[in-house]
Amino acid sequence: MSPSVELYDTTLRDGAQRADLSYTVEDRLRILHRLDAVGFPYVEGGWPGANPRDTEFFKLATKETLQHATLTAFGMTRKAGERADESAVLRELLDAGTEVICLVGKSWDLHVTEALRADLDEGVAMVRDSIVFLRAQGRRVFFDAEHFFDGYVANPRFALAVLAAAEEAGAERLVLCDTNGGMLPFDIARIVGEVRAQASATLGIHVHNDAGCAVANTLIAVDAGAHQVQGTINGYGERTGNADLIPISADLILKMGRDDALPEGAVERLTDLAHYVAEIANVTPDSHQPYAGRFAFTHKAGLHTSGVARLSAAYEHVAPEVVGNRRGVVASDLGGTATLRMKATELGVPLADDDIPGLLTSLKELESRGYTFDAADASLELLMRKAHGWTQSFFRVESYKANVEERWDEGAVAEATVKVLANGERHIETAEGHGPVGALDNALRKALTNAYPQLDDMALEDFRVRVLGEQGEQGTGSVVRVLIDTSNGEREWTTVGVSENILEASWEALVDAYTYGLLHPRETSEA
Ligand SMILES: [Zn+2]
Repeated sequence: MSPSVELYDTTLRDGAQRADLSYTVEDRLRILHRLDAVGFPYVEGGWPGANPRDTEFFKLATKETLQHATLTAFGMTRKAGERADESAVLRELLDAGTEVICLVGKSWDLHVTEALRADLDEGVAMVRDSIVFLRAQGRRVFFDAEHFFDGYVANPRFALAVLAAAEEAGAERLVLCDTNGGMLPFDIARIVGEVRAQASATLGIHVHNDAGCAVANTLIAVDAGAHQVQGTINGYGERTGNADLIPISADLILKMGRDDALPEGAVERLTDLAHYVAEIANVTPDSHQPYAGRFAFTHKAGLHTSGVARLSAAYEHVAPEVVGNRRGVVASDLGGTATLRMKATELGVPLADDDIPGLLTSLKELESRGYTFDAADASLELLMRKAHGWTQSFFRVESYKANVEERWDEGAVAEATVKVLANGERHIETAEGHGPVGALDNALRKALTNAYPQLDDMALEDFRVRVLGEQGEQGTGSVVRVLIDTSNGEREWTTVGVSENILEASWEALVDAYTYGLLHPRETSEA
C-alpha cells in the first residue's frame, strides 16, 4: 500500500544550490545511501547535463542497489519553439537512465511572456510535448510547476491550464512550487484547496523558506490535500533554503498521524541523518535545529533537569529519544547505552556490558574537545574495539615531521618524514606532497607498504577541515577538526582527528585511516 504522504528528497539537487556547499560525486553517493537506508521513497540525484558532476553521478548511482529509494533525475521542459524530440535537455534526462523524471516547467504567465518571449499557448505546449515525449520513452514523470503560487495569483487560468496539460500528458504528480518562497500558510492552504478541487492527479508541494514559512507551508499543504512533499535535509537550498525534511518528517509522523511516511523505526534516525548530511556537506550543524539540534532538548539552566526528568511532558513537546536525540547538556552525541549497543552491532564490534560506561565517558570527553563521530564511523569502531581491550599491533609511530618549503622554480612544496616500527622492523621514509598532509600521507604509505603491501589499494579520497571556534561550544579558541575519507576500492571509511594544530589533527585521522585499512583489507584483489 502506498503511504498517506510521500516524501521526496532533493538535498542532492535543490539542496546543492546553497551558496557555501558543494558535494563530490562520492559525497552524493553516500548521502543517497543514507537516505535510502532511512527509507525515503524518492531521492532526486541532480540535473543530468547541467554540469559534468551531475552526469557522472547518474552514471554511478543508477548502478547502485537501493532498498527503499527510487532515484529520480530533474530537468527542464523543451525550449520555446523547439521540438521535444530535438531537445538536448530532454535527451540528457533520458540518458541519465532513471525510471522517474521530475520535469520542471513554467506556470506563471509572466515568465512565459517576459522571460521566454513566447505566447501562452506555446507555454502550455512546452509542458505537454515534453511530458508526452518522456512518457513515450517509458519514463514515469512528476511535474514541478515552477512559481505556481505566484502564477496562480497572477493568472489562475494559465496556471491551471499548465497543470491540466501536464496531467493529460501523463504526469503522475503535479507538484506546486513556491519558487520565490514568499507565500504565507493561509495562501498555500487556500490555493492547494482550490487546485485540489480541479485536478484529479496527485498533488505535491515544493516550497522555499524566504518568508520563514517553508515547514509550515509544507504541513498546511499536506493538510489541504497535497500528497507528495519535496524538501531537503536540514533545509539546505538556495538563499534561505528549502523546506527542512527533518522537522517535516517528524511533524508528519509524530503529530499529523502520517506515521507511514517513513518505515518503522526511521523517525529515530532523523537526528543521526541530519548530522550525517551536515558532516558530509561540511556545513556546521545547526545546534538549535528543531528535533535534531544538539540543544533541541537542552533545558535552560535553573529550570532543573530534575523537574524535567520527573515531568518531561510538561517541558518537552516530544521525548528526545523518539527522534534519536537526547535531553540535557553536552553528553555523548551517541546518547545512551542502547544507542551505543545498536551502533556496535551495526559496526560488527563485540562490546560487553562492562565496556559501556568507560566508553561513554571517553566519548563524552572526546566530544567536548571537538570530536564528532556522526560521519567518522571508522574512528568510532577503533574506539569501541579499544574499549573492549583491543590494541592495534600493526605499527607503532616513532615520530613524524612535515615542513613546507618555497622553491624558486616549483613554488611551495611540502616534505614529510615518518619513522614507524612495523612487523619488527624500523622504517624511515621521506616523501613530498602538494601540501603537508599529502606529504605525510605519502610518507606513511611508503613506510607501511613495505610491511603491508595490501595498503597499495588504499587511497585518501577527501579531506575536510573545520575550525571550531564557536563560543560556548569549545571555549578554547581555534581547535581544528579534520575528517579524512579513505577508500580501498571495495569500502570507504571516515576518520577524525582534533587538535589546535592542523598537522597533529590530520596525523591522528591518517593513523586511524591506515589502522582501519589494515583491519579491513580488501576481500578481493584488484586484477
Ligand atoms: Zn526549488
